[in-house]
Amino acid sequence: MFKSSIYNILLPYSNGYLAYNTFTCAMLFLKQTIYERVSEILINPNLYDKEEYFKILKDNGFIIDKTIEELNLIYTQHDKVKVSNKFLALQIIPNLDCNFCCNYCFENKRSEYLRGQDLIKVERFLRKKALQVEAARVTWMGGEPLLSWDEIKLLSEPLLEISDYQALLITNGYGFTDDIINELSDYKILEIQITLDGFSNIHNKRRNCKKPIDSYSIIKTNIDKIIRKYGNKIKLTINTNLDYLNIDSYFELIDDLLIYKKYINISISRTCYKSSNKEIPLKKFLSLQKSFYSKISKMGFLCNVEYLPSEYQYIGCFCEMQNGFIIGQDSCIYKCLLQHNDGKNIGTILDNGEVVYILNNESEFWHNYSIKFKENCKVCSYLPICMGGCPLNSDESQCEVIRERIDNRIVLAYEKD
Ligand code: SF4
Ligand code: SF4
Ligand code: SF4
Repeated sequence: MFKSSIYNILLPYSNGYLAYNTFTCAMLFLKQTIYERVSEILINPNLYDKEEYFKILKDNGFIIDKTIEELNLIYTQHDKVKVSNKFLALQIIPNLDCNFCCNYCFENKRSEYLRGQDLIKVERFLRKKALQVEAARVTWMGGEPLLSWDEIKLLSEPLLEISDYQALLITNGYGFTDDIINELSDYKILEIQITLDGFSNIHNKRRNCKKPIDSYSIIKTNIDKIIRKYGNKIKLTINTNLDYLNIDSYFELIDDLLIYKKYINISISRTCYKSSNKEIPLKKFLSLQKSFYSKISKMGFLCNVEYLPSEYQYIGCFCEMQNGFIIGQDSCIYKCLLQHNDGKNIGTILDNGEVVYILNNESEFWHNYSIKFKENCKVCSYLPICMGGCPLNSDESQCEVIRERIDNRIVLAYEKD
C-alpha cells in the first residue's frame, strides 16, 4: 500500500506545474494535462499503481510506502546532527572594529579585538576541539575580520589539523593585501563574501572609509587579484544590499562584473534600516530578488542558485547543534549573533582552553529547544528545507515569507538546469 509524501509542493509554472519534493529534492515539470492525472494519482495512489506516472512519482519520492513515517525520519536525522560531537560549526568574531562607516551599518562597532591572553585561550579551546571532531566549518566575520588577519592565521593553525576543514570569510573586501591573498588557501579559506552596493558612484557613497576614497576600485582590484590567483577554487560571492537608493542602478554593477561571471556568485540582500522609507517592503523585495536572479542567471553568472540543497543538513540554524558556537572578540561563547550583540554569552573560555558554561536563560533555551515543539512544522511541506526556521522566532507569520523564498528557489533552480 502507498501514500503521498507530505513533502510534495506543486507550483503553477508556465503552462503547467513544477512538482518538487522537499525531502528527496526531486523536481518534475508537469504539463497541464499530465498535472491533472498526477493530481488524481497523488490523492489516491493505490488506485493507480499500474500506471507509468505512478512509477515516476514513486521513484522520485512523491509517493511512498504507507509504512514510512517521513516526519520521524527527519526528526531522527535532526537529532543525530544536533548532538553530533564529530562536527564543529563556528562563527568567530575576531574584532568589533571596522575601517568602513556604511550608512546603514547595524553592527555595534567598537575598537575591541581578540588579542593577548584572550586570543591564547581561544587558540587552546580550538586545539582541544580539533582533537575531538572529524569535520569543521568556520565563518570569520566581524566587525571587519581582515583587520585581524594575524589572529585569524593563529587561530586557523589548530583547525587545519582537522581532516575535513574549510572556512568562509565575510569581509568588506577593502583590506586584502597581496600577502593576504596569497595566504588564503594556506588557511583553507575557500569561500569569501564581499559586498558591493552598486557601481562605483553609488557604492562609494554607501560603503566607504571614514575619509572617503574610491573604495569601489580598490575592492574590484582585490576581486580581480583573487580571481586571477584562484579562479573557481575559491567560491567568491558578491553581495549587494538593495533598497530604494540603489535599486535603479543595480544592473550597472552587474554589467561591470560581467567579465568575472564565470567566477563569482551573485547574492542580493535586503537593506534593513533602523527606521526608514528607503527599505523595500519584504514581499516586494522577494519578487524583485527572484526576477533579478533570473535575469542574472541567464546572463551566465554563477548566481546563488544553490538555493536548494542537494543534501540536507537537517538543522534550521547552526546554533541548535551541541557543537555550534559563536566565539566573540571577548573570548566568550555565544549561541546566536543576536545574543552576541546583546552580550548574552552562555560560556567563558578558561586559560587552559576548557569552557565553563553558565546557567542562564539563554543556555536553558538552547538546552531545551527542539523543532518537535513547533506544532505547525509537523504538517508543513517545507520542513526538510526550512527545519523550523530561526529557533528564536516562533511567530508563524515568518512562514509565509519562508515558503515564498523556497518557492522562488525551486523556480530558479528549474530555470537554471
Ligand atoms: S563594512 Fe560592515 S561592519 Fe563595516 S561599517 Fe560597513 S556594514 Fe558596518
Ligand atoms: S517554520 Fe514555518 S515554514 Fe518553516 S517548517 Fe515550520 S511551519 Fe514550515
Ligand atoms: S537569529 Fe535565529 S537564525 Fe540567526 S543565528 Fe540567531 S538563532 Fe540562528
